[in-house]
Amino acid sequence: MTNAASQLPTVKLIINGEFVESSSREWRDIINPATQEVIARVPFATPDEINAAVSAAKEAFTTWRKAPIGTRARIFLKYQQLIRENMKELAAILTAEQGKTLPDAEGDIFRGLEVVEHAANIGNLQMGELANNVAGGVDTYTLLQPIGVCAGITPFNFPAMIPLWMFPMAIACGNTFVLKPSEQDPMVTMRLVELALQAGIPPGVLNVIHGGEQAVNAICDHPDIKAISFVGSTKVGTHVYHRGTLAGKRVQCMMGAKNHAVILPDANKQQTINSLVGATFGAAGQRCMAVSVALLVGDAKDWIADLVSTAKTLKVNAGTEPGTDVGPVISCAAYDRVATMIERGIAEGAKLELDGRNPKVPGYEKGNFIGPTIFSGVKPGMTIYDQEIFGPVLCLATVATLQEGIAMINANPNGNGTAIFTQSGAAARVFQEEIDIGQVGINVPIPVPVPLFSFTGSRASKLGDLGPYGKQVITFYTQTKTITQRWFDDSTLSAGVNTTIAL
Ligand code: NAD
Repeated sequence: MTNAASQLPTVKLIINGEFVESSSREWRDIINPATQEVIARVPFATPDEINAAVSAAKEAFTTWRKAPIGTRARIFLKYQQLIRENMKELAAILTAEQGKTLPDAEGDIFRGLEVVEHAANIGNLQMGELANNVAGGVDTYTLLQPIGVCAGITPFNFPAMIPLWMFPMAIACGNTFVLKPSEQDPMVTMRLVELALQAGIPPGVLNVIHGGEQAVNAICDHPDIKAISFVGSTKVGTHVYHRGTLAGKRVQCMMGAKNHAVILPDANKQQTINSLVGATFGAAGQRCMAVSVALLVGDAKDWIADLVSTAKTLKVNAGTEPGTDVGPVISCAAYDRVATMIERGIAEGAKLELDGRNPKVPGYEKGNFIGPTIFSGVKPGMTIYDQEIFGPVLCLATVATLQEGIAMINANPNGNGTAIFTQSGAAARVFQEEIDIGQVGINVPIPVPVPLFSFTGSRASKLGDLGPYGKQVITFYTQTKTITQRWFDDSTLSAGVNTTIAL
């Protein structure tokens, strides 16, 4: 579909500091998921536009790589201030295109803001090491140098936080960047990029292209892009990892999830139920760290009725309405996928304890709403257990012991997040030691690490060994160079040629 004759606002590309109207013939509507109103149109950038963005980033790297630490740090100090000042506006854009509640949208932005604050510490983070006298009169030290043009590919579910996981740290390290936001909700990302330019990021250092599969493949193949950060589904991330690494790039991919919570009967009951309900149904279950399976150990199996009654108290409504707990899912396609999963769950023998399909949402009858949905009696082999639903659906399973729960979680292919609820330190310690999952919570339902640490993941949830923010990403976005130096003075002059392997 072309953009000709459309009166809707268009989302621009950003190339070399300029907002550019795409000449693409292929455009996509950005739709408010609570109302189905088309709020803007986003282009699928042409190959020439993608190449222009990468060229601008390559050219800007020649100067930006030498920018002093203070220059880089002060831009991110200014940027965090601009994000704070524009928080309400950013949240309103996010909710309009993504659907999550306004307070949750502010949370999405805030978790990204924390990475911006961390990027402002770049002077302390990008430091090398030095060993004095590794041989007589010889020192060795390391430089952590930027690698060049880096690219980011982001999902729809955190359109503020996840782009902010990527470009601030890459740019703070002295790299330049090409970002490809989710084509489903790129508008808040664009406003964040605009604020970054306003904070002083020079032309060409941060560029934005839009699109889907073709743009992503172009990023994977482009010889001038040195590294790719990807967050999204396991299917696409695995493709990006293989295609990007085959082209010689560094690639880090944070991918899909099936996050289990383990509930021991000694846990604080109401606290645990509140945590589970919040972590499962918040953002309509569209968080990669959402709890989607709860394993009820022993007598915790008797908590189902209370869990269901707490879930029933949640208000399903548009994200802009005060008091909303659960907004719409992102698209009609997402709605259909979740509804189909619920039907499969029933057909495959799970017990539907709470049916959230077709909730009444006065004033928003066209919205993609699904209320909290709970199945019990869920087992491996059922579709609702084996696949990521990415909607407000909680699967309950019972296990006899903690060890049985650990074995079940470790047998699931995904390893993004997990949490244990217990008052027993000994049980929690066994869990933390034996579980093969990237993020582990102990009485913390969504244990996303702050940027003093790095996000991680095990098995099918992650490819590449370094996480997307925190200390690990400094390693990802820099090339370590070791310098071994000797300076001659009268005491260190050597006598003649030495052909052995010594310094
Ligand atoms: P997605 O994989 O569909 O899209 C991610 C990105 O890939 C988008 O920019 C999209 O344009 C692009 N893309 C889509 N299809 C493609 C294709 N066929 N070829 C190449 N590129 C393609 O993911 P999504 O639906 O936007 O996001 C939800 C998924 O992301 C869930 O699986 C969720 O668990 C995961 N996620 C993971 C994390 C994490 O940190 N592990 C965080 C957030 C989301």
